[in-house]
Amino acid sequence: MKIPCLDLKGQHQQIKNEVFEQFEKVYENTAFSGGPFVENFENAFAEYCEVPHAIAVNNGTNALHLALLALGIGKGDEVIIPANTFIATAWAVSYVGAKLVFAECTTDTWELDINHAESLITSNTKAIIGVHLYGQPCDIEGTQALAKRHNLYFIEDAAQAQGAEYKGKRVGSFGDVACFSFYPGKNLGACGEGGACTSHSEALTKKIKRLRNHGCDVRYHHEVIGYNMRMGGLEGASLGVKIKYLTSWNNKRRAIAKRYLNEIKNDKIQMQSQPEETNSVFHLFVVLTEDRDDFMSYLNKKDIYPGLHYPIACHLQNAYKHLGHNAGDIPVAENQASKCISLPMYAELTDEMVSTVIKAVNDY
Ligand SMILES: *Cc1c(COP(=O)(O)O)cnc(C)c1O
Repeated sequence: MKIPCLDLKGQHQQIKNEVFEQFEKVYENTAFSGGPFVENFENAFAEYCEVPHAIAVNNGTNALHLALLALGIGKGDEVIIPANTFIATAWAVSYVGAKLVFAECTTDTWELDINHAESLITSNTKAIIGVHLYGQPCDIEGTQALAKRHNLYFIEDAAQAQGAEYKGKRVGSFGDVACFSFYPGKNLGACGEGGACTSHSEALTKKIKRLRNHGCDVRYHHEVIGYNMRMGGLEGASLGVKIKYLTSWNNKRRAIAKRYLNEIKNDKIQMQSQPEETNSVFHLFVVLTEDRDDFMSYLNKKDIYPGLHYPIACHLQNAYKHLGHNAGDIPVAENQASKCISLPMYAELTDEMVSTVIKAVNDY
């Protein structure tokens, strides 16, 4: 039996009829761009994240881009992000013309290292993006305090963490703005592409809504140079169905993660530490091992197909060659990139599949 890192088929079979019913309604209403299905989802998502405002957009990368634009970040400004994240966190900073400053991660949680981030702050630093990596909230209070001390904006990159909790409160409500992705493979994924910003601020919400819709508050009155970053109606409708299942799917991932955490016993395998104040949604279950390639081929021989998240740290990507970083500049993040491997993780994994993975890892 093949065990992939992720399989979206089970989830989509389960909800197919319900989603197709909604698709039919979108079709009948020709509500293909924005519209009532997207607005319904926005309301449901804001409520889910315990924030007053959610603004749906066409993907998570653009949610980050719009958040930075709405905060007025641009040329001459510096934004600190962790070096170990999906590249889209960095793209957003590049899109607005600000300077990317890569920070280290901690050796145990693998989340943004607050002390290293603080050492990188200059008079030009405007914002810090905390990424809730693999579904686990970053050091939110630490980042909030840091932002406050230095008068910076705190943006949550919650693309991997829909429903994750910090001290009992859901992510998306802690930063000046939080950004989510609904890429199909995320814990809450659209049948298509999608993203959202959440915020407590009505003023920021208004700016983001204006920017996503050609700079308009009123049709054909373009107040600023805007973008077309609206969410499609079919995507909004699919998310409106799927959000009702998110907590139960997240809890299934948590139960699988609990088994991995309790039952994997192998000195060659390091797992992400789970601080008491966090309640991860385990978007990915990443472990570190010294000889990653060897471990990968070992698992493949047992018909287990892990993923890699992410094999090259952002500062060493060819796209950022011009920034002049060298191997060894951000050693903990680089170590993470060279040793990470993602065990299978999705709600539909059976007990038997999980047992197979655990046995294989323990026998390594
Ligand atoms: C997926 C992801 C994004 C980008 O989202 P898209 O919807 O794919 O554009 C941004 N940040 C992180 C951490 C992600 O995992």
